Amino acid sequence: MLTTSSKLVTMKEMLVRAKEEKYAVGQFNINSFQWAEAILEAAQEENSPVIVASSDRLVDYLGGFKLISTVINRLVEDKNITVPVALHLDHGSSVERCIEAIDAGYTSVMIDGSHHPIDENIEMTKEVVNYAKLHGVSVEAEVGTVGGNEDGLIGGIQYADPSECVRIVKEADIDALAAALGSVHGPYQGEPKLGFDEMKEISELTDVPLVLHGGSGIPLYQLHKAIDLGHAKINVNTECLQAWAAAVRNTLENDRDVYDARTILTPGKEAVKETVKAKIREFKSNNKV
Ligand SMILES: [Zn+2]
Repeated sequence: MLTTSSKLVTMKEMLVRAKEEKYAVGQFNINSFQWAEAILEAAQEENSPVIVASSDRLVDYLGGFKLISTVINRLVEDKNITVPVALHLDHGSSVERCIEAIDAGYTSVMIDGSHHPIDENIEMTKEVVNYAKLHGVSVEAEVGTVGGNEDGLIGGIQYADPSECVRIVKEADIDALAAALGSVHGPYQGEPKLGFDEMKEISELTDVPLVLHGGSGIPLYQLHKAIDLGHAKINVNTECLQAWAAAVRNTLENDRDVYDARTILTPGKEAVKETVKAKIREFKSNNKV
């Protein structure tokens, strides 16, 4: 019988503590339910809090909010996952989508109003926060533009404006802020150039846990500097996808006759798990439960 009580937690406490103790909690996006298993197993083995996320644009592909929530809850229960797990909506595209996720049992949502003028962004975010508070759910908002492919919207980097960051934190009372400061979704061309001066300013002005989107492929010294300057959450998807694809490709290329799905996909799962474990150690969230 399915239990109705969820063991999932919000990301609020996770991130407040991470910011204080200067580490970051990893957000890892699922691209199938096998990924969810890999992420949960990795976090448990590293004794680390973890944020399992579904990108809004993949929710329907994965079977919908309710199925995702049910599966994550079931996996946490059946695999005896005891580390804190948050289920988060990444780049929620509208107030309605965030509400749908919350109603389905997500414990955290991101409302991405960053492509709207700041007043609209704040209004959308406020609406989500009001609903989220009633359900004990944490909320992340975004200001500025992350480079590369931002969930379907391809655009250049636009740095977050510090005064807009202060406004959205104060007026909408959010739990975490994604302030775009030079990071990119997808692979980087050359070495990433993060705006550390702006990061320091925004962190000091807002005093809210910051979120680094596009955390794949950023050199360790830059990740650690971002953590020192207030980042408590780092999002990773591309690195897991690349590791998965390399492992699956390797299996297919080494055996032109292989057709069994389990044989093809299991090395992919193991590659995701190893990548998540490595990122957790880089973010220094291992043994932080
Ligand atoms: Zn993102």
